[in-house]
Amino acid sequence: TSYPSIVGDMLASGFGIIGFSWICSPACTELEVVVMDWLAKFLKLPEHFLHASDGPGGGVIQGSASEAVLVAVLAAREQAVISCRETHPELSESEVRGKLIAYSSDQSNSCIEKAGVLAAMPIKLLPADEDLILRGDTLRKAIEDDVAAGLIPVICIATLGTTGTCAYDDIDSLADVCETLKVWLHVDAAYAGGGFALEECAELRRGLDRVDSLNFNLHKFMLVNFDCSAMWLRDANKVVDSFNVDRIYLKHKHEGQSQIPDFRHWQIPLGRRFRALKVWITFRTLGAEGLRSHVRKHIALAQQFEKFVKNDSRFEMVAPQALGLVCFRPRGDNENTAQLLQRL
Ligand code: PLP
Repeated sequence: TSYPSIVGDMLASGFGIIGFSWICSPACTELEVVVMDWLAKFLKLPEHFLHASDGPGGGVIQGSASEAVLVAVLAAREQAVISCRETHPELSESEVRGKLIAYSSDQSNSCIEKAGVLAAMPIKLLPADEDLILRGDTLRKAIEDDVAAGLIPVICIATLGTTGTCAYDDIDSLADVCETLKVWLHVDAAYAGGGFALEECAELRRGLDRVDSLNFNLHKFMLVNFDCSAMWLRDANKVVDSFNVDRIYLKHKHEGQSQIPDFRHWQIPLGRRFRALKVWITFRTLGAEGLRSHVRKHIALAQQFEKFVKNDSRFEMVAPQALGLVCFRPRGDNENTAQLLQRL
């Protein structure tokens, strides 16, 4: 975290805004639109994720990666139900819902499996390859088997920067499969998203132009305090159409105008905090270069620590160093690792 961010959070708490629609606090919505576009440009995301682009894309701040993943899973589920009922009118809605299936890797974060539980849709945790990366071939085989068994594939949640070893799933090969088989592709970059900002990590962004949605936690790598999870959608209408429940007391005369989204349709709760303020103050105070050097510093520290591990015969690396993460263990029995962990 950082002091500018804490100040932003204190101000937001002091203002006491509960911005569930644009009319409740235009600044709350509009600053979020501004900072999400700044952030998308800072991370060099594809143009179509910007609110300012011509298309239906845009970004929103969720509380956590878990919420972002759940929103993607629920929206993908509803879109799949709609399209399947068009192509298979003979199936009832409950028959369609009973056949839905989603995919991720066995290295993905616990929140992915939880999203499946909450969405009442099984998520298959596919075996990652030996290097702990999920690739398109594994996904294609699983989907083909499931389709043959009468199931309806909905979404694949890939991870850039897995919790265990910061492995990067192969987005391009997963996108090949998802595009052909019309499956939503979400990327959970909760931690590694910070790397997108660096030219030397450009490889990390490969394939992002082909995904439907992605999330990145600013509270992990961008000096913004919890809670602050950025989420971008290639077509926000798919989420809005899935979650749009209205009441007369929620209506206002500026509804539906471009550039003023009502973010309540993009998230689980109705009310929302003025989180954009802490992002705005952090960016304005530290600057893009300041944030980039923060990420670089963490990578440099990890590289230095990796050298310590490699030069010490008592320890060994478990996975390659990635961004700020170094996975190592004491050599020998697993009990040594358990003991070291306990002592730490
Ligand atoms: N995804 C990944 C890859 C993570 O590492 C984590 C947390 O460590 C999460 C999701 C969950 O994040 P949150 O606590 O914001 O829901």
